[in-house]
Amino acid sequence: MPGEIRGRLAPSPTGRLHLGNAWAFLLAWLSARACGGTLVLRLEDIDPERSKDHYAQAIIEDLAWLGLDWDAGVGVCSADERGPYRQSERGHVYAAILDRLARQGLTYPCFCSRRELRLLAAAPHIDDVGAPYPGTCRHLSAGQREERLAQGRPACLRLRCPPFPIAFADAVQGPQNFLPEHYGGDFALRRSDGVIAYQLAVAVDDALMGITQVVRGRDILPSTPRQIALLEILGYPPPQYVHFPLLLDAEGQRLAKRHHSLTLHALRNMGVPPRRLIGFLGYKAGFQDTVQEVSPAELLPAFDLARLPRHDVRIDENDMRHLTHGGM
Ligand code: GLU
Repeated sequence: MPGEIRGRLAPSPTGRLHLGNAWAFLLAWLSARACGGTLVLRLEDIDPERSKDHYAQAIIEDLAWLGLDWDAGVGVCSADERGPYRQSERGHVYAAILDRLARQGLTYPCFCSRRELRLLAAAPHIDDVGAPYPGTCRHLSAGQREERLAQGRPACLRLRCPPFPIAFADAVQGPQNFLPEHYGGDFALRRSDGVIAYQLAVAVDDALMGITQVVRGRDILPSTPRQIALLEILGYPPPQYVHFPLLLDAEGQRLAKRHHSLTLHALRNMGVPPRRLIGFLGYKAGFQDTVQEVSPAELLPAFDLARLPRHDVRIDENDMRHLTHGGM
């Protein structure tokens, strides 16, 4: 159906889900459901070293415990030509895209060592995008390239980025405009160890899985122009982007997998009921005035992106007490 919203939950199975993931997935779920849309569960297990099957299993259980459901993707049995939905099973898809880009002359191998790239990263740069890649290997002659390849030097594969700016409107962060040097210049599509880069996998999967709405933390905003650049080159329309503020710990650090006490597993073991956790997140998002224990669906009537706080949200000890003991 044209205009139908199709969102996605895209966890990386590299650890247990934590409160920050629950916040992210709740917001993605509400954004899609609030406009009658559907959701896909895609497992971003592209990195074979870091991804573990037992985390994938635990993530599926945690999502079910939270009361977040999805209509297609991992764990859904119905036949679906847009799958597979585990990135580890999509190598052939990425290989075909890389072939196509290579035939268009849009990729080149980059032999820069980690040390050379580290020196670059020490230069001033924006957020975690890193200093723009200066194009050292872009300008190698065919002969120089062949010589390095023949020596067996490890190479990542980079995209020749289009020379024009990438502009888009983010539903929370407003109008965005990035020159290539602001999004890191020619970025890697395949790492030197052969692993497909996150940017390529995500952009291609969003396009081929029919995703029309991408809802994720503002920490990923600097990656978005790279993904849009790829989509434009490949001829796919970009989805709508929604980059929401982050949950921070009491010290102002982004919640991450190292916060073991804030994993959903730990909170569940502390006796926190899922409805309280959802109510707490709904309160922090501005959808409730007090923490009422609710299901995700019960937050839908109050869901409104305009209510989201403009700044990142801290979780302090007081919050934790309320979360673990109830009442606020
Ligand atoms: N897999 C990423 C994560 O778990 C999310 C990537 C995305 O939403 O584009 O942080």
